[in-house]
Amino acid sequence: MKEIVHFIPVADNEADEEIARKLEAFIVGRDLFSFVQARELVAFKTHFGEEGTEGFVRPVHFRMMGRLVKKKHALPFLTDTATLYSGMRNQAVSHIELAQRHGFGFENTGLPLIMADGLTGDEELEVAIPGRIYRQVKIASLIIKAQSLVVVSHFTGHLASGFGAALKNMGMGCASRRGKLAQHSTATPSVKKKKCTGCGACLTWCPAQAITLADQVARIDKSACIGCGQCLTVCRFDAIGYNWSATYEQLQRKIVEHACGVAVAKGNKAVYINFLTRISRDCDCMSGYRKIVPDIGILIGRDPVALDAASLDLVEQRAGRPLTALAYDIPHRVQIDHARDIGFGNPEYELVAVS
Ligand code: SF4
Ligand code: SF4
Repeated sequence: MKEIVHFIPVADNEADEEIARKLEAFIVGRDLFSFVQARELVAFKTHFGEEGTEGFVRPVHFRMMGRLVKKKHALPFLTDTATLYSGMRNQAVSHIELAQRHGFGFENTGLPLIMADGLTGDEELEVAIPGRIYRQVKIASLIIKAQSLVVVSHFTGHLASGFGAALKNMGMGCASRRGKLAQHSTATPSVKKKKCTGCGACLTWCPAQAITLADQVARIDKSACIGCGQCLTVCRFDAIGYNWSATYEQLQRKIVEHACGVAVAKGNKAVYINFLTRISRDCDCMSGYRKIVPDIGILIGRDPVALDAASLDLVEQRAGRPLTALAYDIPHRVQIDHARDIGFGNPEYELVAVS
């Protein structure tokens, strides 16, 4: 049987307030939050955007959805988890500060902002899953403890997973630090000696102190490397190489198995919303926003696998090209295929347009 995925179309560059009005009409009309009970803690999991990014789902939508959840006498809050790589989002304090600067403060959303994995990303709970790589995964504790979950994701291209949407937001975005490390541990960067200028930027940013300089050339200690990819991001001289062909498929499978852990833990107490607007080549962790396809709309469903399959198809239909031609030329359907392989969700969907 096909999973129903609802689709609210939007015009290119349509105002966020108008999009929020459409989404509110859908949520109220379908009683989308019918699974939320009075006094429940309701986590809105999203990505608040890294410094210099623009694509993240705007606070106006959370203000509206939080208001609707409060009408059910429940207790909504905003949440995310710490990144592995250095920067504003690798612990709760500056992460919350950045989120507030991006408009996610209480004065704009009416929602408290509480990090799901604690102050430093180490508060976690284990969830048993029917995976092929893992039998249990480490998920940020508040994702599990909250009685209900609303996963709000921004569809983007992604340099390691092909695309990022609900599965990525759940799998990597809801994992604790140790869960994230487990996912990244197969990625192994190397230094292209001829290109390295010895500038030292990668040493500064490496969270594992795995890089040293020898004769003005960076050297990576692979036994210390956690595979976070930060050096690839910060090197301006294209001097860091990644063996993507050996890692991207495995990374996507690991992401999906962690996403499965979130879905298993929440059962029917979750709903998934993908925004196909401001779609960029890179995820919201990366600066240098560049829109790669006109805005499409919002997709809503109770199955994140069906939701992501539908989102991917709509983006490629709208662009008239595969995502590999729009973003990164790597296999990008591994997330969907692996979910099917482990019996997580259903990639077969029926798209129902909402006027
Ligand atoms: S950032 Fe790039 S160029 Fe600079 S030291 Fe590291 S690898 Fe070399
Ligand atoms: S050397 Fe490894 S741990 Fe250090 S920044 Fe690069 S990928 Fe991350």
